[in-house]
Amino acid sequence: MTRIVIVEDEIDIASVVQDYLRHAGYETEHFTDGHSALESIVAAPPDLTLLDIMLPRLDGIEVLRRAREHTAHPIIMLTARIEEVDRLLGLELGADDYVCKPFSPRELVARVRAVLRRTAPGLQGPASQSEAPGLVLDDVHWRASLEGTPLNLTRREFGLLQVLSRHPGRIFSRARLLELAYDDTVDVTERAIDSHVKNLRRKLGAVTPEYDWIRSVYGVGFAWEAQADAAR
Ligand code: CA
Repeated sequence: MTRIVIVEDEIDIASVVQDYLRHAGYETEHFTDGHSALESIVAAPPDLTLLDIMLPRLDGIEVLRRAREHTAHPIIMLTARIEEVDRLLGLELGADDYVCKPFSPRELVARVRAVLRRTAPGLQGPASQSEAPGLVLDDVHWRASLEGTPLNLTRREFGLLQVLSRHPGRIFSRARLLELAYDDTVDVTERAIDSHVKNLRRKLGAVTPEYDWIRSVYGVGFAWEAQADAAR
């Protein structure tokens, strides 16, 4: 059975979340402080952890940071502050997703399902091109083709495609993309990234209009949709 740990000191929120998750068929375990949660997560990593940030004894960011030294299991952060999201999802802290408070329990369950699906065993391991069947990247010549059709990308678009497609489901902020996909960031603004992503989308869409490969994450950035998700 899929086991989910909930770390939340607000009892009312935790009990509603627990009810919904159990109803959806998950086994749940609840901790009200960061310290005991961390101990349990490290001793026996669950299938997924829902981690609030404002917690007594040890806050959620510290729990996340320390947990990541021992386990790579999926962790969804519960946060009331959108400005924290960038850092949470960055490689520095490595949360898998976040849900902003206040949230609907239904939305939370949907998010749990999505994260479990994309981190399911068959999809784990090093990022590879098999996540996007039909997509071939030539890293030496910055050329890409989709289902045999050359995409005719600019170097910028190629860089974005490289980073996004090799980490399906992972949400990248614009700042992070700027860091990873552009080797010289001098003349690139975060707004320019939006237009490069738009062009990339258009070129991908010309070959496979049935798929929306790149998901916009409101207020944050972009994520690559694994084809299994896109085809859903
Ligand atoms: Ca709290």
